[in-house]
Amino acid sequence: LRQGLDKTRRGLINQLKAIVGQGPLNQDAVTEIEALLLQADAGVEATDKIIAALQTKLREEVLPPEEAIAYLKKLLRDLLDRPLQSHNPVFVPEKDTLNIWLITGVNGAGKTTTIGKLAHIAQKSGYRCLIAAADTFRAAAVEQVKVWGQRSGVDVIANPGQNTDPAAVVFDGIAAAQSRGTELLLVDTAGRLQNKKNLMDELTKIRRIIDKKAGNARVESLLVLDATLGQNGLRQARVFSEAAQLSGVVLTKLDGTAKGGVALAVVEELGLPIRFIGAGEGIEDLRPFSSYEFVEALIS
Ligand code: GDP
Repeated sequence: LRQGLDKTRRGLINQLKAIVGQGPLNQDAVTEIEALLLQADAGVEATDKIIAALQTKLREEVLPPEEAIAYLKKLLRDLLDRPLQSHNPVFVPEKDTLNIWLITGVNGAGKTTTIGKLAHIAQKSGYRCLIAAADTFRAAAVEQVKVWGQRSGVDVIANPGQNTDPAAVVFDGIAAAQSRGTELLLVDTAGRLQNKKNLMDELTKIRRIIDKKAGNARVESLLVLDATLGQNGLRQARVFSEAAQLSGVVLTKLDGTAKGGVALAVVEELGLPIRFIGAGEGIEDLRPFSSYEFVEALIS
């Protein structure tokens, strides 16, 4: 993870250490930390919160460099963990039950790759897993999912025709999952964002099929977000969070950006927990998100 975050680390961390390492935390240092967080794309709201907390602390006591860093880390962790007060703190599929994870996000965000990586993790962890290729709008998407299915050793349920109804594919996926005793059904969904109403209608229809056909399944809806887009990605994310009942975010391409701070903006502005992070194109380059691990990788 540390390597994956190298770009952010080079920008943020060394400067942070230079700022804080000079002596007890002071007003100048806080101002510089504010600039660093904004540069790392942590967003205005998250940055304001962290800076306000640092200011308060500054008034209360003298913090030597080590303690200042430890305190900053704690603030970052707390911010990243806050959505867990209203969302399930653990994010693993329940064994011997059908779990359905809807994977949403705009084209190019890394949805297909993430599905492949998730399938790989699930397979390795001993889950019976299946993928439903319900992004039927792009013929290439179905083919790409199939390739990832092969890589991870997970079957893919797809409809051979183009422009078929995504909900029909989900229906077939659930039927297959039920007859095979599948524990995790990963559903690829279309990533068109031109029209919020279409997106909403499509996701609503998929949800309805799930309720009807697999009423007892545990359903999660993950938004795949490209970290390199920074604040622009957040704008897209808001549309999805209105259309889909999201339960979390997968932040991809953290290896390709110096703006890893966007994780803070995502959490603060969407109120959603980050569930996984992607830091590379390979099948192993996805890991469950841990605020502790993330902050340590960022600042160490
Ligand atoms: P989709 O259109 O949302 O399904 O996106 P894809 O899964 O096809 O990914 C788009 C591009 O991003 C591909 O070239 C992927 O290899 C790349 N990609 C996906 N996740 C990551 C990641 O975590 N890091 C890097 N560097 N590239 C990624």
